[in-house]
Amino acid sequence: MMAIVSGPGTPPTQSKAEVLSCNPVTAGTYLLRVNAPAVAAAARPGQFTMVKCGGDAFLRRPLSIHRVSETGAEISFLFAAIGKGTDWLSASKPGDTLDIIGPLGNGFDLHVSSREILLVAGGLGLAPLVFLAERARRNGIRVNLAYGTASDQRYDKKLLPEGIRLVEFTDDGTCGRKGFVTECVPGFIGSVDQVFVCGPLPMYFALSKQQNLKGKDIQISLETRMACGLGVCYACSIKTVDGQKQVCHDGPVFRLDEIVWNEMAGI
Ligand SMILES: Cc1cc2nc3c(=O)[nH]c(=O)nc-3n(C[C@H](O)[C@H](O)[C@H](O)COP(=O)(O)OP(=O)(O)OC[C@H]3O[C@@H](n4cnc5c(N)ncnc54)[C@H](O)[C@@H]3O)c2cc1C
Repeated sequence: MMAIVSGPGTPPTQSKAEVLSCNPVTAGTYLLRVNAPAVAAAARPGQFTMVKCGGDAFLRRPLSIHRVSETGAEISFLFAAIGKGTDWLSASKPGDTLDIIGPLGNGFDLHVSSREILLVAGGLGLAPLVFLAERARRNGIRVNLAYGTASDQRYDKKLLPEGIRLVEFTDDGTCGRKGFVTECVPGFIGSVDQVFVCGPLPMYFALSKQQNLKGKDIQISLETRMACGLGVCYACSIKTVDGQKQVCHDGPVFRLDEIVWNEMAGI
């Protein structure tokens, strides 16, 4: 199957990226824009970068590429400040310089023959899916985005790419439907060509248990703790039906039915 956004990519580079802006989007989450032409030119949706953070964060931190600007010079990250690395990053100011390595990982496999797709985002799982939505729309593919989040953590709809169909879920029903975003997948599965999911592990567990999704083209982006991001240290190894794989090098995108889910509980 020919793909629009997959296949062997350009090797990653280490770049000095100038910060253009870093602003809060919801409580504790930030949108960070940097000038990184080499990474932007090579990036495919679903790929990530390893960002060097200051303070006492020794290891680089993985962040998905959220968007690439139309000029092709700038990339952005959507991230939650949850610890020493991301807290440090959230204080970035325009003119600061970040040290990033990327693009890394395999990225999503969007088929050239797809006419309509479903994106399923849980919370900050939205981060890599916005880039995918933009690429798909540019290729004339209809995009449905099912987005579930806590009601006080909703991403501003105005920041989403134009022309997508949004189905919102909130935990308490204050906006859109009440419930888990994964509940809508069976309803779409007959009418879309591909499904792409990014969110916390419980979302994937829920999907992996649904019998009517077996054998469907459902791609998920996995987040595990990782150390090198380059396939060297094996810290992010997981068990798949084809043996051990590394999330940083073989992923972070996998087929839903490729993962041995009962071995993932401790990750
Ligand atoms: C491929 C990939 C892409 C990612 N993309 C994004 C993104 O676009 N936006 C975003 O906000 N985050 C993303 N993450 C998660 C992000 O890397 C972590 O939140 C970050 O490394 C935390 O670093 P810290 O120093 O701030 O927190 P730490 O001080 O290292 O940890 C703080 C707390 O967060 C937990 N934690 C740390 N890392 C993870 C993780 N990977 N998964 C679950 N819990 C974790 C720790 O167990 C601890 O409880 C991604 C992770 C991966 C593997």
